[in-house]
Amino acid sequence: METHSSGKTSTPRIVILTGAGISAESGIPTFRASDGLWEQHRIEDVATPEAFSRRPQLVQTFYNERRRKLLSVDIKPNPAHIALGALQRRFPETVTIVTQNIDNLHERGGAFNVLHMHGELLKVRCVRCATVIEWARDVEMGDHCAVCGAGLRPHIVWFGEMPFYMDIITDALRQADLFVSIGTSGNIYPAAGFVAEAKTYGAATLEINLEPSGNRAFFDEGLYGRASEKVPEWVNGFLQN
Ligand code: NAD
Repeated sequence: METHSSGKTSTPRIVILTGAGISAESGIPTFRASDGLWEQHRIEDVATPEAFSRRPQLVQTFYNERRRKLLSVDIKPNPAHIALGALQRRFPETVTIVTQNIDNLHERGGAFNVLHMHGELLKVRCVRCATVIEWARDVEMGDHCAVCGAGLRPHIVWFGEMPFYMDIITDALRQADLFVSIGTSGNIYPAAGFVAEAKTYGAATLEINLEPSGNRAFFDEGLYGRASEKVPEWVNGFLQN
C-alpha cells in the first residue's frame, strides 16, 4: 500500500479470476478432472446451444442435478472463498472478483458483486425475452417465463456463446495493479487471455493453482498447492503488508 503526499493511502486495484479449482475442495468436481468429462457427461452433450436445442430435457436434467448438489448441506465455501471475501470486504472499492464458476460459493464466503462471466446455476433465463429469474429448484417442462410465457433455459454461458460482463472485466483488467488467477487451467478463452491483457497494461501477475497452468509464462509469481491453504496464506500476507 502506498502513502501519497496528501497523507491518503491508496490501495492497489486487484482483479481476481477464479476457476473450478477454487471450489474443488468444497466438493464440486473440476471440469477436466476426468478425461474432459464434466460429471460423466461430454461437454458437447450438455454445455452447448446445439445440445439444448436437440435434447432440452437432458440438458435441464444435467443442470437440475448440479443445482440440487450445490444446494445440498454438504457443499460449503472453503477457506479460499472465505479469505477472498474478507479481502474484498476490507477493500470494497478496489477488489474485483471475476469467476468462471457457476456456483455461489464466493457469495457464501462473503464476497459481493462477483462477476459470474459464465453465468449462475441459481438463475434461469427466458429463451425469448431474456428475463433472468432467481431459481433454486428443478426446472420442469411446464415452467415458463412469467413475463412472456416462453420456455426457460439455464442462465449459463455455453460453449460458443459470449461470456457476460466483458466490458466491465476488460476495463478492470486495464486498470489493475495486480491480477491474481486462482484454480483455473487457462484453457478456456476469453478468461485464459486475461493475464496477458492485464500484464500488457502494467499489472503484476500471480497464479495460485495446484500446479503451473498452461499460462505459467505470463505470471510473475506462482504459489502452488491447494487453494484452501495457498489463498488464505496469500491474503494474510497481503493484509499484513
Ligand atoms: P478447469 O477444470 O479447466 O481447471 C481447474 C484448475 O484448477 C486446474 O488447473 C487444476 O490444477 C486446478 N485445481 C484443482 N484442484 C485445485 C485445488 N484444490 N486448489 C487449487 N487449484 C486446483 O477449470 P476452469 O479453468 O475453471 O474451466 C472449467 C469451466 O467449467 C468453467 O468455465 C466453469 O464454467 C465450468 N465449471 C464450473 C464449476 C463450478 O462452478 N464450481 C465446476 C466445474 C466446471
